[in-house]
Amino acid sequence: MAKVNENYQKLPGSYLFSEIARRTAEYTEKNPEAKMIKMGIGDVTRPLAPAVIEAMHAAVDDMSKEETFKGYGPEQGYDFLRNAIAENDFRAHGVQIDDDEIFVSDGAKSDTGNIGDILSVDNKVAVCDPVYPVYVDTNAMAGRAGDYDEETQGWTNIHYMPTTAENGFSPAIPDEKVDVIYLCSPNNPTGTVLNNEQLKAWVDYANANDAIIMFDAAYERFISEPNVPHSIYEIEGAKTCAIEFRSFSKTAGFTGARCGYTVVPKSLVRDGQSLHDMWNRRQTTKFNGASYIIERGAAAIYTEEGKKQIEETLDYYRNNAKVIKDGLESAGLEVYGAVNSPYVWCKTPNGMGSWEFFGLLLEKANVITTPGAGFGPSGEGYIRLTAFGNAADTVEGVERIKKLIATL
Ligand code: PLP
Repeated sequence: MAKVNENYQKLPGSYLFSEIARRTAEYTEKNPEAKMIKMGIGDVTRPLAPAVIEAMHAAVDDMSKEETFKGYGPEQGYDFLRNAIAENDFRAHGVQIDDDEIFVSDGAKSDTGNIGDILSVDNKVAVCDPVYPVYVDTNAMAGRAGDYDEETQGWTNIHYMPTTAENGFSPAIPDEKVDVIYLCSPNNPTGTVLNNEQLKAWVDYANANDAIIMFDAAYERFISEPNVPHSIYEIEGAKTCAIEFRSFSKTAGFTGARCGYTVVPKSLVRDGQSLHDMWNRRQTTKFNGASYIIERGAAAIYTEEGKKQIEETLDYYRNNAKVIKDGLESAGLEVYGAVNSPYVWCKTPNGMGSWEFFGLLLEKANVITTPGAGFGPSGEGYIRLTAFGNAADTVEGVERIKKLIATL
């Protein structure tokens, strides 16, 4: 009899976004006239930059002619894109990353999920709480998480690091030995960042304990403050302990186009094995490369006009984030994130639960948000709002929330 991966049976249902959709549908069925404003989902809404579209069109034309047609591409990504990434995202900022340390993919979700393929099942994993659920669920699927405990709403073999206002959203170095540490900065969902000193402490820990840091920088482009590292490789010692994930999704609106990349330094060695060579082996075996057309589109964001155009779109979202933050603060709410992130992490008023405040905003302001508790127990007492919506809707949504808060 074929046996299935029993770890899948242990996974709790992916409850958060389906529950939000269910509650929203229940409300709108009863109130069909309500004009709902979506401030919950982490997906972009602005179209791709003209330079990207142009490059993709040209790539389609390449596919139409025998001389320029492309079949299977390199599994690691085309040289033109690996070079543009290494040059612009790293070397231009004084961070020495070689072209062949860049692995292009169809996005950071795949890479953060797949990276566990090259790790032993025996590793102890540490994650922030609240957390982007992919890190936890993929480790659970691999059998690295132990069992799910309904009471604590966590996995028995995962080390959870509360990341809350109380500790300045900087997770404490574990008191037990951990082997794999997932860090996300700017963070989803809290919108907060780790500074140089905080990241240096993690790099030192990882090097001292032969651990590996999985550094997710999917929201790097939203960093606006100085002293906030854009890459973990800005920190001395990181190239011997860290893998970095990046995505074009929020940088350039590629959530639907799909493209991202992972940096695995050649100097990262554990158990006598090169993680770079292992990831290369994994990718060449299980992945046939991102699409040529999409990679051409991604490379266009590094051209002069591409750079300018994606900045305009990023500014649009950055402005939304500021509108949300300023508006909620003026209503007297405690607000985090937004400055270096498209996410606004807002403390619920009067000690309300996440789902209770979500329900209130849904029904009394017709604004859809995301309850913080859905990202982990330490997200209780917060909601997440996103800056990826239409600007006029964002202004309107914030006004409605302000009016509602004034009545509490
Ligand atoms: N990492 C984080 C922290 C995210 O929030 C997301 C998307 O929401 C991703 C990775 C996935 O990015 P991609 O669209 O490149 O798969």
